[in-house]
Amino acid sequence: MERDLDTNIQMVDLNGQYLNIKESIDDAVLDAIGKSQFIGGDDVARFSENFSNYLGGSFVIPCANGTDALQIAMMALDFRPGDEVIVPAFTYVATAEVLGLLGLVPVMIDVDLDTFIATPELIRNAISPKTKGIVPVHLFGQSVDMEPIMELSRDYGIHVIEDAAQSIGGFYQFTDKKWKASGTIGHIGCTSFFPSKNLGCYGDGGALITNDTELAKKIKMIANHGQSEKYVHKFIGVNSRLDTIQAAILNVKLDQLSNYQNARISAANNYDHLLGEISEIQIPIRSQNVKHAFHQYTIKVNGGKRDELKQWLHECGIPSMIYYPIPLYNQEAFKSIAVVSQSLTNTEILTKSVLSLPMHTELKIGQQQYIADCIKSNFLKNIN
Ligand SMILES: *Cc1c(COP(=O)(O)O)cnc(C)c1O
Repeated sequence: MERDLDTNIQMVDLNGQYLNIKESIDDAVLDAIGKSQFIGGDDVARFSENFSNYLGGSFVIPCANGTDALQIAMMALDFRPGDEVIVPAFTYVATAEVLGLLGLVPVMIDVDLDTFIATPELIRNAISPKTKGIVPVHLFGQSVDMEPIMELSRDYGIHVIEDAAQSIGGFYQFTDKKWKASGTIGHIGCTSFFPSKNLGCYGDGGALITNDTELAKKIKMIANHGQSEKYVHKFIGVNSRLDTIQAAILNVKLDQLSNYQNARISAANNYDHLLGEISEIQIPIRSQNVKHAFHQYTIKVNGGKRDELKQWLHECGIPSMIYYPIPLYNQEAFKSIAVVSQSLTNTEILTKSVLSLPMHTELKIGQQQYIADCIKSNFLKNIN
């Protein structure tokens, strides 16, 4: 196919995004270096406050990355070796990996075939007397149905840790019509500022979110060697900090987050419009009571044609990614520790049929048109 595009199509265009806010970013970074307080300091404090305001007032405790956030959350909630924690089998490895590190038992559950996320029913079916935690993963940016999950958590006395690494910018609506930011609903929310995430820094970064004052204090201590005051250690903790320079960058990018979300939503709407009629694929299905953050725009390809379409896109010069190709319980690392308590048919199907298309804040309509044309031509070439 002919390409008439001024730029290459990328899964994520971090450089294009940077160039649009270059001056503010450069100023913030140079200012942080000029102050030479490289750990902590007001840039980190200001980011916690700004991000807390964005989230509607929850406490924010920054840390080194999203994986650490999950681990610190489970340490703060006193999960002990042998405790069961319910996680979806269709997620990024980090969600379940921290369980292995802490000697916890990952009980892997299936996800919904349409929304790619766990449902309250699937979670309820996996609860046992040993269950201590549930980790709803808001995969690709779409929030799990949190209200019934919080009810389950009350009924069974189980803690809920949201994996909101992909869903910052997304919101969930309760039956009383109130909206809450993704990551602020469970006992603890965990997120990542990995560069390609919806709120990304220029290296690694992460944060824990909670509405509980005591838990916030404990999390802060655990992230800092379990220290209650200098050289007094109340808990075994870890060393997990958000770099000052990254906090300075995040302060600039947080101001853009609403614009970025609008850009993602409009790109998703364009894709829906361009791809909705193609019978060989299924466009993402959005839950009604959710504002999807569209971290990824993930289609399902029918009839075992996913790998063929991916190859054809590649030939058209279009990148695409398979998130995720192998269910976690089939990974060697998890074979001896994961418990699979139910049939995981949907996970099996999804690992063979999902395909994530380029999705970012700088995506152009012309590029999306080209991607759609390429997808259509793949299925036409099969007929000829
Ligand atoms: C990115 C991600 C993480 C981990 O974040 P890092 O900052 O890379 O450690 C955890 N869970 C999910 C679902 C993610 O996408």
